[in-house]
Amino acid sequence: MTLTAENAAARATPESTAGTATVRPPLDPQALRADFPIFERLIHGKRLAYLDSASTSLKPRRVLDAMDGYNRRYTANVHRGIYTTGEEATAAYEESRVKIARFINAPDPHEIVQVRNATEAINLVAYSWGRRNIGRADTIVLTELEHHANLVPWQLLVQEKDADLEFVPIHDDGRLNLQTYEVLLRTRPKLVAFTHVSNGLGTINPVREMVEMAHAAGALVLVDGAQAVPHLPVDVRAIDADFYVFSGHKVLGPTGSGALWARRELLDAMPPFLAGGEMIREVHLRRTTFNDVPWKFEAGTPDIAAAIGLGAALDYLADLGMDRLREHERELVGYALEVLPREVPGITIYGPASADDRGGVVTFNLPGVHPHDVATLLDRDAIAVRAGHHCTQPLHERLGEAATARASFNVYSDRDDIDRLAKGLRSVQRVFDRPTSESHAATTQASANDLD
Ligand code: PMP
Repeated sequence: MTLTAENAAARATPESTAGTATVRPPLDPQALRADFPIFERLIHGKRLAYLDSASTSLKPRRVLDAMDGYNRRYTANVHRGIYTTGEEATAAYEESRVKIARFINAPDPHEIVQVRNATEAINLVAYSWGRRNIGRADTIVLTELEHHANLVPWQLLVQEKDADLEFVPIHDDGRLNLQTYEVLLRTRPKLVAFTHVSNGLGTINPVREMVEMAHAAGALVLVDGAQAVPHLPVDVRAIDADFYVFSGHKVLGPTGSGALWARRELLDAMPPFLAGGEMIREVHLRRTTFNDVPWKFEAGTPDIAAAIGLGAALDYLADLGMDRLREHERELVGYALEVLPREVPGITIYGPASADDRGGVVTFNLPGVHPHDVATLLDRDAIAVRAGHHCTQPLHERLGEAATARASFNVYSDRDDIDRLAKGLRSVQRVFDRPTSESHAATTQASANDLD
């Protein structure tokens, strides 16, 4: 085995000695980049500054090797073949379920449904739990921060059932207005669904408190963890929600992987969502009985390689330590919030003013320049940022912007990426010949901090 930063990092994991926990050093993003083959490639002759991890993360070699191992050495369907490779495939697929459960501290791997992404997990709950439990005039409470994946499935449900949606508004700095949340809970909603971390603004919501408030009002809670599981230590037992979902492709894992965690009694009571092979116990021409959970919700052949890759990604992150990843991103966001307004006069930054309240996301605009132009020009310098509404159109309506640009981070991101972003944005401004006076800078920074 060659010593890559990946296995070096894993080896560097200090043991607690005689009950004394050792403080681990901060993550070393430059060394970790050696684990990600994409960095072997140059884009327009330059190292890729990948600042779009909130959209999808890069994949370390360990994930690629795990998927390759399945495809090359033990390809077989799962839960079917009573032969060596079939049993190996089933064991690896089920082992990923155990790794997912461990990673989010779920009490029981049987409470983990393996799905293709967070969108599928939310649709599963909306179709299965929602169609059985939501009726006429019932209320579902969402927030203005939601990704379309945690909005449109509920719109379809309430249209069908003649039920209602209510929305927790945000303060101007992107934090939820919890006073209004409290008022909305007095309507006794059946379900509250909100994101743990906003993909649009980075806001880290006070999930524990919000779940407690919802439960006190008699509602069940779904938490969209698509932007939390990749960036923070997540403990579903401590959060105490009823449903928690995330996508594998943002957690350094492959596309086509993800998970729904739900309380066992809820899953047991929920009717199937997709039907077909694998989710059944006995099938007769006119009648079927269903498999136990979680397989009742895993109809058809799953994306086996992706599930195995997700398990490898979670191992990789667990070895690095999610607390270290959180600290790394908090530091980077703090640096970006300091450097960008200073180096890029006129920039508008959206979202909470403090890095303590944000995941690894910095959303911004250059006045007078469309974010698509920003992203296109940055690409010439091999800087990848996202431009658009980030699947949060209602949030953008609230911000009064059709689109924004967004830089987002992960283990391989560093201060150099942010310095390059700042320099790239100055070049964009030169191309568009925008005014760059100090007073303009001061005004927009003030407005970014003073939005509440
Ligand atoms: N929720 C949030 C907060 C997200 O950021 C995303 C992806 N951008 C999703 C849900 C949907 O994820 P996917 O497209 O992987 O289903």
